[in-house]
Amino acid sequence: MALIVQKYGGTSVGTIDRIRNVAQRVAKFKMLGHQVVVVLSAMSGETNRLIALAKEIQTVPDPREMDVLVSTGEQVTIALLAMALKDLGLKAKSYTGSQVRIVTDDAYTKARILSIDEENLRADLDAGHVVVVAGFQGVDETGNITTLGRGGSDTTGVALAAALKADECQIYTDVDGVYTTDPRIVPEARKLDAITFEEMLELASLGSKVLQIRSVEFAGKYKVKLRVLSSFVDINGSEGEGTLITFEEDSMEQAIISGIAFNRDEAKLTVLGVPDRPGIAAAILGPIADANIDVDMIVQNVGANNTTDFTFTVHRSEMKKALEVLAQVKEEIGAREVTSDDKIAKVSIVGVGMRTHAGIASKMFRSLAGENINIQMISTSEIKISVVVEDKYMELAVRVLHQAFELEKAAA
Ligand code: ADP
Ligand code: ASP
Ligand code: MG
Repeated sequence: MALIVQKYGGTSVGTIDRIRNVAQRVAKFKMLGHQVVVVLSAMSGETNRLIALAKEIQTVPDPREMDVLVSTGEQVTIALLAMALKDLGLKAKSYTGSQVRIVTDDAYTKARILSIDEENLRADLDAGHVVVVAGFQGVDETGNITTLGRGGSDTTGVALAAALKADECQIYTDVDGVYTTDPRIVPEARKLDAITFEEMLELASLGSKVLQIRSVEFAGKYKVKLRVLSSFVDINGSEGEGTLITFEEDSMEQAIISGIAFNRDEAKLTVLGVPDRPGIAAAILGPIADANIDVDMIVQNVGANNTTDFTFTVHRSEMKKALEVLAQVKEEIGAREVTSDDKIAKVSIVGVGMRTHAGIASKMFRSLAGENINIQMISTSEIKISVVVEDKYMELAVRVLHQAFELEKAAA
């Protein structure tokens, strides 16, 4: 007997039929003698619908009330699944995050899980129940409802698996695993049987939404066995092996590049004609940090007449706020001009094999140049290279790189 946590995403519970399908899949695991905890998302489209409603009332909705609102989506699906399970003759109980006591900090809309009271869940499991928990939500220490950021049900799943010391956490979604890149953009993308934890962490943080980054962080911290699978395969067939997130790098087929991630989440800000003297980077980025704005990529170019141009990227939603801060900074440091551009995209190649291979960056840049795609910014780490390009070239860049690195072929 194993204890399994299964998380089903929005499309997997998008209709009553899909919810019945989930119930059957859960029943299959129960019949095999396993204990099953199920974590659910809201029906697909529901969270977006709720956010849109809020924005009809307030352009920037009150964060506390926003969490009260968006957490309702998951309350609907857990109750419906518990009913569907009972309809199949199984014992089942649904719980909201606050009923479990998934305690988070009070950072509304992006809260972090601090602790989980797993005792009651364990008692239910021992009594033969399937426990169905609402993903994406928690409660702060004073009882306010909180949510964990978009895609946060993945994190609820992995956090519960960690708290219950589950044998495996299975993330069921609408693709049958983690691919070399989003198969919606590159139909030739190849499913990976396994991917290292480090690579998955990079892919998630660079935009692959198949797993929320915090869920991968949790899996790493608590060594949760994590697998991505499809809920859309025939219920009577096998789920397949999906993709296992592995901590053992050495046993992997060593591809140099494992995957390509991309996002349109960032905006670029440039301070032009900055006097070139020590302390300038701090003078620009200090006030940005003080305003709680995270900076991602940074480039500084030496220009003419002892001046320099300073460029950095922030999350698109914080561009306006950053521009306000920079207007002030510009006066203080005597810069000439501040410009901004939110028509950018970041495309990244990721692979632990890069550590031992030279020439990957030049191959990446050559491939993009071959399609006349201009690179605006570059950043690298040991296992990734990211470039910023004009956003209309994002998909072309992903396809070109997928082909250049022959990711459709399995590593020899
Ligand atoms: P869920 O609602 O089940 O949480 P998501 O939409 O959040 O599902 O995540 C699954 C989607 O992630 C897939 O449909 C796919 O389009 C996208 N995706 C992006 N990058 C990848 C990748 N490398 N491998 C697989 N899917 C990816
Ligand atoms: N329903 C939430 C969202 O759409 C959480 C999730 O699906 O993981 O972001
Ligand atoms: Mg998701």
